[in-house]
Amino acid sequence: MQSKTSTDGRWWDWFEETLRTARDLPAIQSLRYQWLGKRGQLTVAMKELAQLPAEQRRLRGQQLNQLRQRMVEALDIRQREIDIETEAALLNGERLDMTMPGRPPRVGLLHPLTRARRRIEDVLLRMGFSLHYGPQVESEWYNFEALNIPAGHPARDMQDSFFVDVPNMVLRTHTSPVQIRAMQQHQGRLPVKVLAPGVVYRRDDDATHTPMFQQVEGLVIDHGIGLADLKGTLTTMVREVLGERVETRFRSSYFPFTEPSVEMDVTCAACGGVGCRTCKATGWVEILGSGMVHPVVLANGGYDASVVSGFAFGLGIERLAMRLFGLDDLRLLYQNDLQFLQQFIRWEGGRQA
Ligand SMILES: [Zn+2]
Repeated sequence: MQSKTSTDGRWWDWFEETLRTARDLPAIQSLRYQWLGKRGQLTVAMKELAQLPAEQRRLRGQQLNQLRQRMVEALDIRQREIDIETEAALLNGERLDMTMPGRPPRVGLLHPLTRARRRIEDVLLRMGFSLHYGPQVESEWYNFEALNIPAGHPARDMQDSFFVDVPNMVLRTHTSPVQIRAMQQHQGRLPVKVLAPGVVYRRDDDATHTPMFQQVEGLVIDHGIGLADLKGTLTTMVREVLGERVETRFRSSYFPFTEPSVEMDVTCAACGGVGCRTCKATGWVEILGSGMVHPVVLANGGYDASVVSGFAFGLGIERLAMRLFGLDDLRLLYQNDLQFLQQFIRWEGGRQA
Protein backbone atom coordinates (compact mmCIF):
# COMPACT_ATOMS: atom_id res chain seq x y z
CA MET A 1 0.00 0.00 0.00
CA GLN A 2 2.82 2.31 0.96
CA SER A 3 4.39 2.00 -2.47
CA LYS A 4 1.08 2.82 -4.13
CA THR A 5 0.62 5.95 -2.05
CA SER A 6 4.10 7.21 -2.83
CA THR A 7 3.37 6.63 -6.53
CA ASP A 8 0.35 8.90 -6.05
CA GLY A 9 2.63 11.41 -4.35
CA ARG A 10 5.06 11.46 -7.29
CA TRP A 11 2.16 11.73 -9.70
CA TRP A 12 0.74 14.68 -7.77
CA ASP A 13 4.11 16.46 -7.63
CA TRP A 14 4.61 15.98 -11.33
CA PHE A 15 1.05 17.13 -12.08
CA GLU A 16 1.31 20.19 -9.83
CA GLU A 17 4.67 21.25 -11.26
CA THR A 18 3.27 21.20 -14.82
CA LEU A 19 0.11 22.96 -13.71
CA ARG A 20 2.05 25.79 -12.05
CA THR A 21 3.95 26.53 -15.26
CA ALA A 22 0.81 26.39 -17.45
CA ARG A 23 0.34 29.93 -18.81
CA ASP A 24 -2.66 29.57 -21.04
CA LEU A 25 -5.83 27.60 -21.62
CA PRO A 26 -4.35 25.19 -24.21
CA ALA A 27 -1.72 24.18 -21.63
CA ILE A 28 -4.47 23.48 -19.06
CA GLN A 29 -6.48 21.52 -21.61
CA SER A 30 -3.48 19.45 -22.54
CA LEU A 31 -2.73 18.64 -18.90
CA ARG A 32 -6.34 17.72 -18.26
CA TYR A 33 -6.27 15.39 -21.24
CA GLN A 34 -2.93 13.89 -20.19
CA TRP A 35 -4.29 12.79 -16.78
CA LEU A 36 -8.04 12.62 -17.03
CA GLY A 37 -8.70 12.05 -20.72
CA LYS A 38 -9.87 8.68 -22.10
CA ARG A 39 -6.29 7.41 -22.21
CA GLY A 40 -5.06 9.64 -19.42
CA GLN A 41 -2.60 8.38 -16.81
CA LEU A 42 -5.20 8.31 -14.03
CA THR A 43 -8.02 6.96 -16.19
CA VAL A 44 -5.85 4.02 -17.21
CA ALA A 45 -4.88 3.36 -13.58
CA MET A 46 -8.56 3.28 -12.61
CA LYS A 47 -9.36 0.84 -15.41
CA GLU A 48 -6.59 -1.44 -14.12
CA LEU A 49 -8.29 -1.65 -10.71
CA ALA A 50 -10.35 -4.51 -12.10
CA GLN A 51 -7.26 -6.74 -12.07
CA LEU A 52 -6.67 -6.27 -8.30
CA PRO A 53 -8.08 -8.57 -5.61
CA ALA A 54 -11.37 -7.23 -4.24
CA GLU A 55 -9.95 -6.02 -0.90
CA GLN A 56 -7.10 -4.00 -2.44
CA ARG A 57 -9.32 -2.74 -5.21
CA ARG A 58 -11.58 -0.88 -2.81
CA LEU A 59 -8.81 0.94 -0.97
CA ARG A 60 -6.90 1.71 -4.18
CA GLY A 61 -10.11 2.90 -5.79
CA GLN A 62 -10.66 5.39 -2.97
CA GLN A 63 -7.08 6.68 -3.25
CA LEU A 64 -7.29 7.15 -7.00
CA ASN A 65 -10.67 8.85 -6.68
CA GLN A 66 -9.26 11.31 -4.15
CA LEU A 67 -6.33 12.04 -6.42
CA ARG A 68 -8.68 12.56 -9.35
CA GLN A 69 -10.81 14.93 -7.27
CA ARG A 70 -7.75 17.02 -6.30
CA MET A 71 -6.59 17.20 -9.90
CA VAL A 72 -10.02 18.31 -11.17
CA GLU A 73 -10.23 21.04 -8.53
CA ALA A 74 -6.66 22.24 -9.13
CA LEU A 75 -7.24 22.37 -12.91
CA ASP A 76 -10.48 24.35 -12.44
CA ILE A 77 -8.81 26.87 -10.13
CA ARG A 78 -5.85 27.40 -12.47
CA GLN A 79 -8.21 27.76 -15.42
CA ARG A 80 -10.12 30.51 -13.62
CA GLU A 81 -6.85 32.27 -12.75
CA ILE A 82 -5.77 32.21 -16.39
CA ASP A 83 -9.19 33.54 -17.46
CA ILE A 84 -8.77 36.48 -15.11
CA GLU A 85 -5.17 37.14 -16.19
CA THR A 86 -6.16 37.08 -19.87
CA GLU A 87 -9.04 39.46 -19.29
CA ALA A 88 -6.83 41.85 -17.31
CA ALA A 89 -4.13 41.82 -20.03
CA LEU A 90 -6.78 42.53 -22.66
CA LEU A 91 -8.23 45.46 -20.71
CA ASN A 92 -4.76 46.80 -20.04
CA GLY A 93 -3.92 46.74 -23.74
CA GLU A 94 -7.12 48.61 -24.54
CA ARG A 95 -6.72 51.31 -21.97
CA LEU A 96 -7.95 54.66 -23.30
CA ASP A 97 -6.06 57.86 -22.85
CA MET A 98 -8.94 60.26 -22.28
CA THR A 99 -6.63 63.25 -22.70
CA MET A 100 -5.81 62.37 -26.35
CA PRO A 101 -7.44 64.72 -28.86
CA GLY A 102 -10.36 63.02 -30.67
CA ARG A 103 -10.29 62.00 -34.30
CA PRO A 104 -12.84 64.18 -36.07
CA PRO A 105 -15.29 62.24 -38.27
CA ARG A 106 -14.94 62.86 -42.01
CA VAL A 107 -17.71 65.16 -43.08
CA GLY A 108 -19.26 64.71 -46.50
CA LEU A 109 -20.30 67.61 -48.67
CA LEU A 110 -22.17 68.33 -51.83
CA HIS A 111 -20.13 68.24 -55.03
CA PRO A 112 -19.25 71.68 -56.48
CA LEU A 113 -21.42 70.90 -59.52
CA THR A 114 -24.41 70.14 -57.30
CA ARG A 115 -23.84 73.32 -55.34
CA ALA A 116 -23.59 75.41 -58.51
CA ARG A 117 -26.75 73.84 -59.95
CA ARG A 118 -28.70 74.34 -56.73
CA ARG A 119 -27.74 78.01 -56.57
CA ILE A 120 -29.43 78.59 -59.90
CA GLU A 121 -32.40 76.42 -58.97
CA ASP A 122 -32.86 78.28 -55.67
CA VAL A 123 -33.04 81.66 -57.38
CA LEU A 124 -35.36 80.60 -60.19
CA LEU A 125 -37.69 78.50 -58.03
CA ARG A 126 -38.22 81.63 -55.93
CA MET A 127 -39.13 83.44 -59.16
CA GLY A 128 -41.90 80.93 -59.81
CA PHE A 129 -40.17 78.43 -62.11
CA SER A 130 -40.85 74.71 -61.67
CA LEU A 131 -38.45 71.84 -62.32
CA HIS A 132 -38.90 69.54 -65.32
CA TYR A 133 -36.83 66.57 -66.45
CA GLY A 134 -36.55 64.67 -69.73
CA PRO A 135 -34.85 61.48 -70.96
CA GLN A 136 -31.10 61.42 -71.66
CA VAL A 137 -31.62 59.09 -74.63
CA GLU A 138 -33.79 61.33 -76.75
CA SER A 139 -35.45 61.07 -80.14
CA GLU A 140 -33.88 63.09 -82.93
CA TRP A 141 -37.22 64.86 -83.32
CA TYR A 142 -37.17 66.29 -79.78
CA ASN A 143 -33.42 66.94 -79.85
CA PHE A 144 -33.26 68.53 -83.34
CA GLU A 145 -36.36 68.89 -85.56
CA ALA A 146 -38.74 70.19 -82.90
CA LEU A 147 -36.14 72.83 -82.03
CA ASN A 148 -35.95 74.07 -85.61
CA ILE A 149 -32.76 72.14 -86.38
CA PRO A 150 -33.76 70.19 -89.53
CA ALA A 151 -31.72 67.30 -90.94
CA GLY A 152 -28.66 68.69 -92.73
CA HIS A 153 -28.69 71.86 -90.66
CA PRO A 154 -25.11 72.92 -89.84
CA ALA A 155 -25.98 72.98 -86.11
CA ARG A 156 -26.19 69.20 -86.21
CA ASP A 157 -22.57 68.93 -87.30
CA MET A 158 -21.47 71.51 -84.78
CA GLN A 159 -22.87 69.47 -81.95
CA ASP A 160 -21.12 66.24 -82.94
CA SER A 161 -23.66 63.97 -81.32
CA PHE A 162 -23.44 60.47 -79.87
CA PHE A 163 -25.91 58.31 -81.76
CA VAL A 164 -27.24 55.07 -80.27
CA ASP A 165 -28.05 51.72 -81.91
CA VAL A 166 -31.75 52.56 -82.09
CA PRO A 167 -32.88 54.38 -85.25
CA ASN A 168 -33.57 58.11 -84.80
CA MET A 169 -32.35 58.13 -81.20
CA VAL A 170 -29.45 60.14 -79.81
CA LEU A 171 -27.87 61.01 -76.45
CA ARG A 172 -29.38 64.44 -76.01
CA THR A 173 -26.91 67.17 -76.94
CA HIS A 174 -28.64 69.83 -74.84
CA THR A 175 -31.46 70.19 -72.32
CA SER A 176 -33.52 72.11 -74.91
CA PRO A 177 -35.71 69.08 -75.85
CA VAL A 178 -37.22 69.44 -72.37
CA GLN A 179 -38.64 72.78 -73.62
CA ILE A 180 -40.80 70.88 -76.12
CA ARG A 181 -41.77 68.17 -73.62
CA ALA A 182 -42.71 70.77 -70.98
CA MET A 183 -44.82 72.75 -73.47
CA GLN A 184 -46.62 69.55 -74.48
CA GLN A 185 -47.28 68.72 -70.82
CA HIS A 186 -48.74 72.19 -70.25
CA GLN A 187 -51.21 71.54 -73.12
CA GLY A 188 -51.62 75.22 -73.96
CA ARG A 189 -51.95 76.42 -70.35
CA LEU A 190 -50.19 79.65 -69.37
CA PRO A 191 -47.83 80.71 -68.05
CA VAL A 192 -45.09 78.18 -68.79
CA LYS A 193 -42.18 78.80 -66.40
CA VAL A 194 -39.92 75.80 -66.56
CA LEU A 195 -36.45 75.01 -65.33
CA ALA A 196 -34.81 71.87 -66.72
CA PRO A 197 -31.44 70.86 -65.26
CA GLY A 198 -29.73 67.77 -66.60
CA VAL A 199 -26.84 65.87 -68.11
CA VAL A 200 -26.08 66.23 -71.83
CA TYR A 201 -23.55 64.64 -74.21
CA ARG A 202 -21.29 65.90 -76.98
CA ARG A 203 -18.17 64.54 -78.61
CA ASP A 204 -15.72 66.96 -77.01
CA ASP A 205 -12.88 66.28 -74.59
CA ASP A 206 -10.28 68.86 -73.57
CA ALA A 207 -9.51 71.29 -70.71
CA THR A 208 -12.76 73.18 -71.28
CA HIS A 209 -14.99 70.36 -72.60
CA THR A 210 -15.99 66.91 -71.37
CA PRO A 211 -18.12 64.42 -73.38
CA MET A 212 -20.74 64.56 -70.62
CA PHE A 213 -21.67 67.81 -68.96
CA GLN A 214 -24.59 69.54 -67.28
CA GLN A 215 -26.89 72.27 -68.41
CA VAL A 216 -29.77 74.19 -66.95
CA GLU A 217 -32.47 75.17 -69.39
CA GLY A 218 -35.07 77.82 -68.72
CA LEU A 219 -38.30 78.55 -70.62
CA VAL A 220 -40.95 81.21 -70.04
CA ILE A 221 -44.08 81.54 -72.19
CA ASP A 222 -47.00 83.89 -71.59
CA HIS A 223 -48.91 86.77 -73.19
CA GLY A 224 -46.66 89.71 -74.00
CA ILE A 225 -43.29 88.29 -72.97
CA GLY A 226 -40.48 90.38 -74.48
CA LEU A 227 -36.73 90.79 -74.54
CA ALA A 228 -36.94 93.03 -71.44
CA ASP A 229 -38.34 90.08 -69.46
CA LEU A 230 -35.43 87.96 -70.64
CA LYS A 231 -32.88 90.61 -69.63
CA GLY A 232 -34.54 91.28 -66.28
CA THR A 233 -34.83 87.61 -65.33
CA LEU A 234 -31.30 86.65 -66.38
CA THR A 235 -29.64 89.71 -64.85
CA THR A 236 -31.41 89.08 -61.54
CA MET A 237 -30.43 85.40 -61.64
CA VAL A 238 -26.77 86.06 -62.44
CA ARG A 239 -26.45 88.76 -59.74
CA GLU A 240 -28.05 86.45 -57.14
CA VAL A 241 -25.72 83.61 -58.06
CA LEU A 242 -22.44 85.45 -58.70
CA GLY A 243 -22.89 88.50 -56.46
CA GLU A 244 -24.33 92.00 -56.85
CA ARG A 245 -21.08 93.46 -58.15
CA VAL A 246 -20.98 91.43 -61.33
CA GLU A 247 -21.79 93.41 -64.49
CA THR A 248 -23.62 91.93 -67.45
CA ARG A 249 -24.01 92.62 -71.14
CA PHE A 250 -26.00 91.05 -73.95
CA ARG A 251 -24.58 90.40 -77.42
CA SER A 252 -26.65 89.36 -80.38
CA SER A 253 -25.98 85.79 -81.52
CA TYR A 254 -27.57 82.96 -83.44
CA PHE A 255 -29.36 79.79 -82.31
CA PRO A 256 -31.85 77.91 -84.51
CA PHE A 257 -34.46 77.72 -81.74
CA THR A 258 -34.53 81.41 -80.76
CA GLU A 259 -35.09 84.63 -82.72
CA PRO A 260 -33.59 87.03 -81.88
CA SER A 261 -30.81 85.23 -80.04
CA VAL A 262 -28.50 86.79 -77.47
CA GLU A 263 -25.50 85.65 -75.51
CA MET A 264 -24.97 87.02 -72.03
CA ASP A 265 -21.51 88.02 -70.80
CA VAL A 266 -20.42 88.75 -67.24
CA THR A 267 -17.34 90.61 -66.04
CA CYS A 268 -14.27 88.38 -65.94
CA ALA A 269 -13.65 86.96 -62.44
CA ALA A 270 -9.88 86.77 -62.99
CA CYS A 271 -9.30 90.47 -63.75
CA GLY A 272 -12.56 92.11 -62.61
CA GLY A 273 -13.17 93.50 -66.10
CA VAL A 274 -9.80 95.12 -66.75
CA GLY A 275 -8.77 92.53 -69.31
CA CYS A 276 -6.51 89.48 -68.95
CA ARG A 277 -5.57 86.21 -70.61
CA THR A 278 -8.69 84.38 -69.34
CA CYS A 279 -11.03 86.89 -71.01
CA LYS A 280 -8.73 87.45 -74.02
CA ALA A 281 -8.21 91.05 -72.82
CA THR A 282 -11.92 91.91 -73.27
CA GLY A 283 -12.87 91.98 -69.59
CA TRP A 284 -15.95 89.83 -70.36
CA VAL A 285 -16.68 86.09 -70.37
CA GLU A 286 -19.73 84.42 -71.89
CA ILE A 287 -22.02 82.77 -69.35
CA LEU A 288 -25.14 81.69 -71.25
CA GLY A 289 -27.05 81.62 -74.49
CA SER A 290 -30.65 82.79 -74.73
CA GLY A 291 -33.28 84.38 -76.95
CA MET A 292 -36.94 84.76 -77.78
CA VAL A 293 -38.49 81.37 -78.53
CA HIS A 294 -38.71 80.77 -82.30
CA PRO A 295 -42.30 80.57 -83.65
CA VAL A 296 -41.57 77.09 -85.08
CA VAL A 297 -40.51 75.87 -81.63
CA LEU A 298 -43.64 77.34 -80.03
CA ALA A 299 -45.79 75.60 -82.64
CA ASN A 300 -44.05 72.25 -82.04
CA GLY A 301 -44.89 72.62 -78.34
CA GLY A 302 -48.55 73.39 -79.13
CA TYR A 303 -48.48 77.18 -78.74
CA ASP A 304 -49.44 79.87 -81.27
CA ALA A 305 -46.79 82.53 -81.83
CA SER A 306 -49.45 85.03 -82.90
CA VAL A 307 -51.01 84.82 -79.42
CA VAL A 308 -48.15 84.15 -76.99
CA SER A 309 -44.41 84.73 -76.85
CA GLY A 310 -41.57 83.50 -74.68
CA PHE A 311 -37.88 83.43 -73.95
CA ALA A 312 -35.49 80.58 -73.28
CA PHE A 313 -31.96 80.25 -72.01
CA GLY A 314 -29.38 77.54 -71.39
CA LEU A 315 -26.22 77.64 -69.39
CA GLY A 316 -23.44 75.19 -68.53
CA ILE A 317 -23.19 74.22 -64.86
CA GLU A 318 -19.48 73.34 -65.15
CA ARG A 319 -18.53 76.82 -66.33
CA LEU A 320 -20.54 78.34 -63.53
CA ALA A 321 -18.96 76.01 -60.94
CA MET A 322 -15.49 76.89 -62.27
CA ARG A 323 -16.30 80.55 -61.77
CA LEU A 324 -17.83 80.02 -58.31
CA PHE A 325 -14.96 77.88 -57.05
CA GLY A 326 -12.11 79.50 -58.96
CA LEU A 327 -11.14 76.45 -61.04
CA ASP A 328 -9.14 76.54 -64.27
CA ASP A 329 -9.60 72.94 -65.48
CA LEU A 330 -13.06 71.55 -66.10
CA ARG A 331 -11.85 67.96 -65.82
CA LEU A 332 -11.13 68.40 -62.08
CA LEU A 333 -14.89 68.33 -61.57
CA TYR A 334 -15.15 64.76 -62.85
CA GLN A 335 -12.07 63.08 -61.36
CA ASN A 336 -13.64 62.49 -57.92
CA ASP A 337 -10.35 63.25 -56.19
CA LEU A 338 -11.29 63.62 -52.51
CA GLN A 339 -8.28 65.81 -51.76
CA PHE A 340 -9.45 68.21 -54.42
CA LEU A 341 -13.11 68.08 -53.41
CA GLN A 342 -12.50 68.50 -49.69
CA GLN A 343 -11.08 71.97 -50.25
CA PHE A 344 -14.65 73.09 -50.79
CA ILE A 345 -16.03 71.95 -47.45
CA ARG A 346 -15.88 75.48 -46.11
CA TRP A 347 -15.18 77.67 -49.10
CA GLU A 348 -17.53 78.70 -51.85
CA GLY A 349 -16.72 81.39 -54.36
CA GLY A 350 -14.18 83.00 -52.03
CA ARG A 351 -16.73 83.21 -49.24
CA GLN A 352 -17.20 80.83 -46.35
CA ALA A 353 -20.20 78.65 -47.08
ZN1 LIG B 1 -10.10 88.88 -67.45
